[in-house]
Amino acid sequence: MKIQENLRETARKLLADGEASLVIGYAPGSEVSRVVPAFISREDEVDRLVWNPLCINNLAKYLLDYRHEPGKVAVVVKGCDSRAINRLLQDNQITREKVIILGIPCPGLINPDLVAARLDPGAQITVAAVSEQDFSLQTEEETFTFTRDEALLKKCRDCEQHTPVIADFMLGEEIPPNDPADPFVAVKTLEELPVEERSAYWDKQFSRCLRCYACRNVCPACTCRECVFDQAEPCWVAKANNLSENTAFHLIRAFHVAGRCVDCGECDRVCPVNIPLSLLNRKILKDIKDLFNVPTPGTSLEELPPLGAFTKSDPDEFM
Ligand code: SF4
Ligand code: SF4
Ligand code: SF4
Repeated sequence: MKIQENLRETARKLLADGEASLVIGYAPGSEVSRVVPAFISREDEVDRLVWNPLCINNLAKYLLDYRHEPGKVAVVVKGCDSRAINRLLQDNQITREKVIILGIPCPGLINPDLVAARLDPGAQITVAAVSEQDFSLQTEEETFTFTRDEALLKKCRDCEQHTPVIADFMLGEEIPPNDPADPFVAVKTLEELPVEERSAYWDKQFSRCLRCYACRNVCPACTCRECVFDQAEPCWVAKANNLSENTAFHLIRAFHVAGRCVDCGECDRVCPVNIPLSLLNRKILKDIKDLFNVPTPGTSLEELPPLGAFTKSDPDEFM
């Protein structure tokens, strides 16, 4: 809980000194397995802030809601979320001087569905701890232990950067970058299928899409002032919810974020029908890495997205 204390202390000081007008962090949700974004503007609200293995949301995109407000906004970011800050800065969606980045080195998060299955929904977590082997959640009544093997969140199994790549305050001890043995195993398994089977796989997935656009709305790489899917004239993709239009939506979005997707996993997390969007975006991430030999987008503020920059020495066989 040391990080949580540091977070509250830092937030309190930033608000008291007038350095920040708002702190965006996490607070307990209505059920024990859920933690929700918290928007703290007063010192007496600071103790609502929590840090535990259920703090999944990437909060970076909320910065867009305050970019034209006076004052600075402080935001809590984990390693993966911090790449989204670089994405928003590179895309000129936010300005560095308006943002205070509260970095938390994150050892990995827990699958909230497993917590929901074992803990009473009305319980409150009083102490949370993560070790190399397990997660431990203590409530007023009991301590629950989950092994990392069973409970580690899917995206955390291939985590590259536990420690934020950009931060003004680092609220815990840095955790060295990870070098996952092969972060693209699932993509490669799908690539090896014959084209008819791959096509059938994605047809089955896209046909379930509700076109709710939650995946787009949560994405830090999706920041167009007017999204192509909202345009009535010209109408690039019809509103009809069928396989053809759904496929067009997914392919257009995948290409719009190609080379810019920071692999934060938020689109995958929010999909109400569990379409494996990370598989689609990670296929493109893998191809971009193979083609351009670049790190995951957002890892460095200086490294421009490969499809958004050119040099005179670029090959031009396609011209
Ligand atoms: S991907 Fe890494 S930084 Fe992000 S939540 Fe998982 S362990 Fe934490
Ligand atoms: S969040 Fe899921 S259901 Fe909604 S538009 Fe995206 S893929 Fe479709
Ligand atoms: S496409 Fe998905 S994983 Fe990539 S940046 Fe957007 S929300 Fe994150």
